[in-house]
Amino acid sequence: MVSLYRGTFSIVDLRAFAHNLRVMANRVHPETKLLVTVKANAYGHGVAPILEVLAESNVAAVGVASLEEALQVRQCGYAKPVLVLGSVGAQELPIAARHQIHVTYTDAWGDIDALPVMGSEPLHVHTALDTGMNRLGFKSIEHARVVLNQILNRSDMTWSGVSTHLACSDGPSDQHAAEQIRRFADMISQLRALGYDVPTVHASNSGGVLRNGQWHFDMVRIGIAAYGYSPDESVLPMPELRPVMHMYSSITRIADVLPGETIGYGATFTATQPMRVATVAAGYADGYPRVLSNSGKVLVHGQIVPVVGRICMDQLMIDVSNVSTVRVGDFVTLFGRAAPAAWTPEKWHRKPPEDRREWLEKSFESDSHGEQNVLSLSDVASLAMTIPYEMVCQINSRVPKLYV
Ligand code: PLP
Repeated sequence: MVSLYRGTFSIVDLRAFAHNLRVMANRVHPETKLLVTVKANAYGHGVAPILEVLAESNVAAVGVASLEEALQVRQCGYAKPVLVLGSVGAQELPIAARHQIHVTYTDAWGDIDALPVMGSEPLHVHTALDTGMNRLGFKSIEHARVVLNQILNRSDMTWSGVSTHLACSDGPSDQHAAEQIRRFADMISQLRALGYDVPTVHASNSGGVLRNGQWHFDMVRIGIAAYGYSPDESVLPMPELRPVMHMYSSITRIADVLPGETIGYGATFTATQPMRVATVAAGYADGYPRVLSNSGKVLVHGQIVPVVGRICMDQLMIDVSNVSTVRVGDFVTLFGRAAPAAWTPEKWHRKPPEDRREWLEKSFESDSHGEQNVLSLSDVASLAMTIPYEMVCQINSRVPKLYV
């Protein structure tokens, strides 16, 4: 059991993750397979515990960004298919084949006939069609045919999937995504008409799944929805999803500040009236964006309070003038469910550091009020001019993760 000394940590709610998988599975056709993206350490949630949930679920496959991430998935003991969505170098392909890792074809492989020979296991290759994202894949059927014929000619390669990626599935209108899907379906039909036995067809990310049931094909690739967020709340509200990650820190000092005094680096905030200012033990090195200097909001005793002054590397300051009950040691919600009332400074100090983790996890699980008072990550992300994807990915590994 890892000891907890600094009162800054995140809670990763694996029951919420399992719930979201069920919500998304109910949105897709029963025949459509679900691939969940676990790249970037499962969007910052910790890949090993997330894979444990996925291994037990009816999710068919996982997606990663690199061969390194795919091998990490295998090291965790995950046995179902793993697809690398990004590029894998030509020389590394036999490693992918050995570990039965599916790869996505890229032009960087060069001449397919000249690629190294795979070992006893064939290499599973997915080919992407570029239907409007301009990031990856064949723009024309002619190009696709040249490469496909070479792949199909090799006895140590199997054509296992054909994909595209939607650029605007969460945009304000359907138009761009609908046009991509139309082109994709048309290219697939052309391949079939040319006699190709087209394998697993996949196109939709979370936005595509939520937007249109006709865009699901044989498999969908979802990420952000599994972690509890709609790709864009304002366009595709998904109240039935439950956020998986919640982030907390604690107050290390409370001070009176007089009019005319300034707060933090650069003296960017000047008090215009008497204030009470609390210091919180989290900063941009923990993943709390520095752009939230003088604009962020956190929850203290269920009340929203503003960040004042610049976010420091390891600390930040908040205005607690209107929170009458605030004390040093109180927990602060940086995003997610309000800190349970049971998390008091006294209990924290009384617990031996090696027992704190279990105590925090249990009291989070049994806190029935938490879900009613939430500082939504989408709101914090939009204050930071970013998206929940980036916020959860950037929580630094020095922030302990507690799993419930
Ligand atoms: N498919 C590909 C190729 C991706 O790159 C991603 C994520 O970036 C996804 C699917 C999942 O997207 P989302 O998290 O929006 O569901």
